[in-house]
Amino acid sequence: MTDIVRTRSALRARVLGWKRAGESIGVVPTMGALHAGHLSLVEAAKAGNDRVIVTIFVNPKQFNSASDLENYPRTEEQDAEKLAPHEVDVIYVPDPDQIYPDGFATTVSVTGLTEGLCGAHRPGHFDGVTTVVSKLFLQTGADRAYFGQKDYQQLQVVTRMAMDLDIPVEVIGCPTVREDDGLALSSRNLLLPSEARAAAPGLNRAMTAMAEGLLAGGDIAALRATAEEAILAAGFERVEYLELRAADGLAPMASVDRPARLLAAAWIGGVRLIDNIAVG
Ligand code: AMP
Repeated sequence: MTDIVRTRSALRARVLGWKRAGESIGVVPTMGALHAGHLSLVEAAKAGNDRVIVTIFVNPKQFNSASDLENYPRTEEQDAEKLAPHEVDVIYVPDPDQIYPDGFATTVSVTGLTEGLCGAHRPGHFDGVTTVVSKLFLQTGADRAYFGQKDYQQLQVVTRMAMDLDIPVEVIGCPTVREDDGLALSSRNLLLPSEARAAAPGLNRAMTAMAEGLLAGGDIAALRATAEEAILAAGFERVEYLELRAADGLAPMASVDRPARLLAAAWIGGVRLIDNIAVG
């Protein structure tokens, strides 16, 4: 089994050795409860680097609800077992004080990109993400970092943050891994009651139909209304957002005149699911 490292100093000792040997380092930041989506990032990191670090840290600062933080699945032992065949170099599971020492007082915050979509519905979420991710970039000294397109807004925000702060890391976005029925893999799927799990692919189905309608030149307001109806009819309780945005920069769009992304968040069985797909 791969070594689990829990302190900055132990991590730094490994990283220094690799850097001295001229080896490249890839990092895959996660909150654990690993699934095939995470493992696809690990494989991408392995293919592109001499050394790979997987980080597992359930970051309290990016949860905007105490119950969501409390209910978030924590499965460290199983995570280590799932990683074993991938032979990563280190699993970094920092003790909380290694990320947020006493007196911690700094927030890394990206404007603009964080203002709509998940940012509008989860106050403080992206500040929590950029604060922890900037620390993980600096602590690991990684040359490349692998993020899923599943969290498309997060991928854009983290890319901007690294660029703006001159953190010498290349942020690489990897495709969303899905179940056969179209549901995007997510650690939160573990929290879905069985009826909700069966109905959950309705979100991606409605989004795919809306994207096809948009590409065929259909009216966005009508297509959106139809998609929202379909999502609710599938068994979702609420659609939080369903928006067409520019693939690069996330500006709102009313028709597909350049590469676009359709992004959604919706609630089912008391669980908030997000998804996004390319349009054009
Ligand atoms: P999380 O543990 O949910 O914070 O996710 C850690 C990383 O895995 C993030 O970069 C996510 O975008 C990525 N990820 C989560 N689900 C998937 C998926 N279904 N396909 C690809 N990447 C994913």
